[in-house]
Amino acid sequence: MRAVKNVEITEVKGDKFVNAIVYRDKETNKVTELPVGGIFVEIGQLPNTEFLKGVVDLNDYGHVVIDPRTQKTNTQGIWSAGDCTDVLYHQNNIAAGDAVRALEDIFQYIHSK
Ligand SMILES: Cc1cc2nc3c(=O)[nH]c(=O)nc-3n(C[C@H](O)[C@H](O)[C@H](O)COP(=O)(O)OP(=O)(O)OC[C@H]3O[C@@H](n4cnc5c(N)ncnc54)[C@H](O)[C@@H]3O)c2cc1C
Repeated sequence: MRAVKNVEITEVKGDKFVNAIVYRDKETNKVTELPVGGIFVEIGQLPNTEFLKGVVDLNDYGHVVIDPRTQKTNTQGIWSAGDCTDVLYHQNNIAAGDAVRALEDIFQYIHSK
């Protein structure tokens, strides 16, 4: 295995299946075509939570800080679940399960009013 860093992928080649990627080295501008049997798109770790600044607590990466027992944020009446939260792992089932936990807690909250 070899890591290719500091490059921009400019093209994904293939017909029915991917068979190569083309990338440009950001320092040298050298363009390379690399034969591959598949690709995995890693879209990054920063959540789109800019609009929540000042509404709920965010950590240094912009993840919504939650109580992992209830999904509550620090602002009363606001819950959060999914990849935008500061839980350690981000996967479909975790996001879905956390949303159900939030719903359970919202249910309790409404019924205790
Ligand atoms: C390439 C890739 C492969 C993955 N493979 C797996 C896997 O095999 N198994 C697995 O369990 N998990 C996998 N994951 C992780 C999984 O996709 C996430 O954990 C899951 O989608 C999180 O769900 P979510 O609802 O929290 O966020 P998302 O699915 O990201 O949904 C958030 C939604 O909010 C929308 N949105 C963002 N900002 C705003 C806004 N301001 N206003 C309105 N809407 C907005 C977005 O457009 C998006 O539709 C993978 C992720 C990636 C990127």
